[in-house]
Order: sequence, then structure tokens, then C-alpha cells
Amino acid sequence: MAQAILDVKRSVHFCPVCFSYATGDLCEVCADPRRDRTSICVVSEPRDVSAIERTGAYRGLYHVLGGVISPMDKIGPEQLHVRELLSRLASGEVAEVILATNPDVEGETTATYLARTLHPLEVKVTRLALGLPVGGELEYADEVTLARAIEARRDA
Ligand SMILES: [Zn+2]
Repeated sequence: MAQAILDVKRSVHFCPVCFSYATGDLCEVCADPRRDRTSICVVSEPRDVSAIERTGAYRGLYHVLGGVISPMDKIGPEQLHVRELLSRLASGEVAEVILATNPDVEGETTATYLARTLHPLEVKVTRLALGLPVGGELEYADEVTLARAIEARRDA
């Protein structure tokens, strides 16, 4: 019984690199040597990682912010994993950051903030293409729409 509880605790936690769900030391994506380490897709929640993974259209890494900027809820960049994103970019290995927050007000605010913050760095910053339903959530977008939004991403 005690062991079972321990196993559950050990089984799901946040990946220390990208803050997605992980069952091992790292999440499946970070631990996979075949993933393209030159691109990072920034999402707000771990469930967005699952939504994008389902499309099969993306082979890079992820970074989960753990929320979105929301002045109404007193959530600013300090409450999100923005600092950790910046330290991942410091290695210079990453060539592109794809902003894949939801196409709603908070998601857009967060993407705009990140685009501005990342602008001075030598990294290409892109945003998912329109075509996602405005006000909708990534995780409910169908796979074809989401795959197209990734492929047709534009400069942020
Ligand atoms: Zn990870």
C-alpha cells in the first residue's frame, strides 16, 4: 500500500526541463534523443503538449509556462516559467521559439509579452498561424487544424 502511494507520487510529476508531465526523470519528449533540439514550442499547459503531439506535425521540444499572463488574476510573467525558458535559450542551441498559447486574450497577451522579451535574443520567434478558432483552446482544435497552424506559423 505504502509502496503503491510512493509509485503514484513517483509516476507523475513535472519535467524539470520543460515542466510538462513526466513519469521518468525527464518527460518523454525531453528524454527522446530523436527530437529536434533547435526548436522549442511554448505552451501554457501540459495538456497543450498532448494536443500538439497528437498532430504528429512537430518534432521539436516544448516549454510549458504553467499558465498565462492574466492581470485580472494577478498572474504576471514572474508566476510563469519564463525565467526557465530564458535560461534554456542561453545555451544558444535553440534557433526557433514557437509561441503556441491559446488564441484568446490572455494567450495573445502572453505571446506578445514573450515575443517582446525574446526579441533581443538571437532566436527566431514564431506564432501559430491563424486558422485556430479565436477564443478557442488549443486542446480542442482538431488535429488537422492544429497541424496546419504549426506548419503555417508566422513571425511573431
Ligand atoms: Zn520535458
